[in-house]
Parts: sequence; structure tokens; C-alpha cells
Amino acid sequence: MTDLQDAPLTADRLSELLELAIHEHRLAPGTKLGEDELGEIYGVSRTIVRAALQSLAHQRLVELRRNKGAFVAQPKVKEAREVFEARALLEPRTAHSAALRITDAQIAALQAHIDAEHAAIHKGDHGRALYLSGQFHIEIAKIADQETIAAFIQQLISRSSLIIALYWQRRSALCESNAHHALMKAFIARDGDRAQELMNSHLVDLMTSLDLRNITATPTTLRDALVGS
Ligand SMILES: [Zn+2]
Repeated sequence: MTDLQDAPLTADRLSELLELAIHEHRLAPGTKLGEDELGEIYGVSRTIVRAALQSLAHQRLVELRRNKGAFVAQPKVKEAREVFEARALLEPRTAHSAALRITDAQIAALQAHIDAEHAAIHKGDHGRALYLSGQFHIEIAKIADQETIAAFIQQLISRSSLIIALYWQRRSALCESNAHHALMKAFIARDGDRAQELMNSHLVDLMTSLDLRNITATPTTLRDALVGS
């Protein structure tokens, strides 16, 4: 793109681009994020790259290792459980509020969102489908008009992308979109109790599709593989 030269990327924009690549599973957990390489790819200074990596580290999407540099984070089993438990605490209530206040225009927008998710699945673009399915949850929190919780859910969804990349056993995104269809029906009926119940079972279902028992993150060095626990 020609406008890259006219308007160099800001640190915020770079961190957004990297975050999207993580959400879409183009950048796998454990991938080394070299400062020089990123600087070359995006045509930005090390200062910009460092600021972007710092911001991603703050969101727990990147891990900064002393003397080794930055890596895409690899959440441990305990963290994975905690993230989904936090979602199960917050999101059913949010779905309840959203169902009671959703407007016709918001229903249409959510439906368009589901259609885009389907289109991505049919094109075989699972990364995109996964990203959109996370956004569906964020949209619901926004409809509930609870900004603080929405921001928190947004961070949990980001971390969920990494967890799904590491621990998800069921690669098909289809069950996920069936759950979203059922939720849509509850929203259209403005049925708060049903929306709450469906969101809860959707999250339980997501959590049980993660294999949190026997998977350890791929070791990144021989030392990790041979000397680790
Ligand atoms: Zn979902």
C-alpha cells in the first residue's frame, strides 16, 4: 500500500494488527516476535515496535522474556480455566441485559455478524470465523450497555483466542455458530432468562471442548523440553 510511507504506523495501530493476527491464529502461541523483523515488515522504528509489544504484553497476549525478547503468549492450563470461569461469571448476565434492551437495528447488526461468520466458515477461513465469533460476544456486551464489563470481556475474548489455539480439540466452528443462532432467537424474543441460560451452556460447552488435562504448551527450547517439570 502506498499510504504506508505517507502515514507511518503508530504503536497503537501496530498492536492492533498483531492482535488481529493472533486472533485469527496466523501468529501461533510461542512465536518469537523479533523487534528488527517486525520493524522491517511494517517499516517502523524499534521504539514503535517496543511500544506495541509492551501494550500487547499488558493485555497478556505477548510475553516479554528477559534477554530473550517477545513471544506470543502461551497461557497455562490454570490461566485457561480462569479465563473461561471469568467469562462464565460475566457473560450470562450480560446476555440477560442485552436481551431486555436490544433494538431491532441491533438485532439486524448481530444477524449480519452471524452471516459473516458463516461466510468465513464456508470459505474455509477458520481464523476469520474464530475472530468474528469472539466479536459476537463483545457486541452482546456492548448491547447490554455495560462499558466496564464490555472492556473486560474484550480482554478475556482476546486471551480466549490464544487458549483456543493451544487447547481446542474440536476444530469445527459449526457448533459455536449453532449456539450463536440459538442466542439470536432468545434476543429476538427479548427473553432474558433464556439468553442467560443459553450463554451459560454455550460457555460450558466451549470450556469442555478444550482439553485442559493433558496438553502442555510446545516447548520453545531444548532446555524447556529436557529440563522442564
Ligand atoms: Zn460464542
